[in-house]
Amino acid sequence: MTSKKLQELLGKAQGELTLLYEIGNALRTTLDFDETLTIILTGVTAHHGLAFNRAGIFLVDPEQKQLIGRMGIGPENGEGSSFHKTITSLRVPMTERAGGLAAMSALQGSPIEVVTAADQKKAAMDPVLRALQSTSCVLVPLKGREDEVVGLIFADNRITRTPISRESFRLMALLAAHAGLAIENARTYQGALRQADLDPMTQLWNRGAFQRTLMETLSSAGQSQQPASLLLADLDHFKEYNDQVGHLGGDKGLKAVARLLKETARSEDYVARFGGEEFALILPKTTKINALKLAERIRLAMDQTALPLTLSLGVATFPQDAHETEQLIQAADQALYEAKKQGRNRVVIA
Ligand code: GH3
Ligand code: MG
Ligand code: MG
Repeated sequence: MTSKKLQELLGKAQGELTLLYEIGNALRTTLDFDETLTIILTGVTAHHGLAFNRAGIFLVDPEQKQLIGRMGIGPENGEGSSFHKTITSLRVPMTERAGGLAAMSALQGSPIEVVTAADQKKAAMDPVLRALQSTSCVLVPLKGREDEVVGLIFADNRITRTPISRESFRLMALLAAHAGLAIENARTYQGALRQADLDPMTQLWNRGAFQRTLMETLSSAGQSQQPASLLLADLDHFKEYNDQVGHLGGDKGLKAVARLLKETARSEDYVARFGGEEFALILPKTTKINALKLAERIRLAMDQTALPLTLSLGVATFPQDAHETEQLIQAADQALYEAKKQGRNRVVIA
């Protein structure tokens, strides 16, 4: 080997090490999920990085057994953002039959390179490559601590049509090792944060999370000049129920009520356990009349279950009943008190 050639090789090796070192460092500075994904994709696409034209990350959804497109980075033009849109619209079943090469790579836990002419037929039939209009690409699984696959990186050079070198394929696998662990860390952290906001018994949002969300909801309602409503619900004669079925039986009842509230509320509503046997629902962009309708639906649903329990509810609406959180809670609580006074198993509006 000539010394020039040797120097070239050494220079390249040093560049690779620097890149991996930089990415590894950047990934250690954050536990934020989106930031983690951005650092990874930037490393894959930036000029001083692996310099792929486009790269996207899929995450494994173990429950649905599918790969979910989560983020894409392409060239800095309109097509860049449309690439992100395409990536995030993709749901790939984790079966080799329906999921093609991406599923195969994730299931087998090994990288796949689509570069040779013989691969082209496969690429043309592949659901993911077809959606991304890619004919040459790399698919590299991302693995967590226990070697389980947590996601997948897709990368290609669709714009410049530069051939994918063995070098960049190899580097990509090294980068993916860092990336997989970083994603797992961010996920664990996110899960812990979420758990801290949940009531352990009912798995509804807890009081602290409720307060924070109500404040945020009212603030954005104020900015967009839209209403928002609050429901407070309290079980009727729950002490008696406890006395009849015992405390553990009472707990079971509370879990059943929590499930019913979640099922009856709309997906945009925020259902929390406000206290012992009291619940709160934040209803964004909801007028008083619509809040009343939902409250009545909940009351009826509760009345009609096999459980011998009923609910009283109070409704208050921003901005007509109150302009800030504590006042709104007070207004709903006052209405709830009124519902109790009028005989329970009913809805009263502020
Ligand atoms: P009212 O119709 O006026 O609301 O009557 P109530 O008996 O429901 O009212 P009160 O608020 O006085 O009593 C609530 C009861 O809820 C008292 C408490 O023992 C019970 N409780 C609160 N938290 C829990 C819990 O986590 N588990 C169980 N099993 N019971 C709880
Ligand atoms: Mg109570
Ligand atoms: Mg009660």
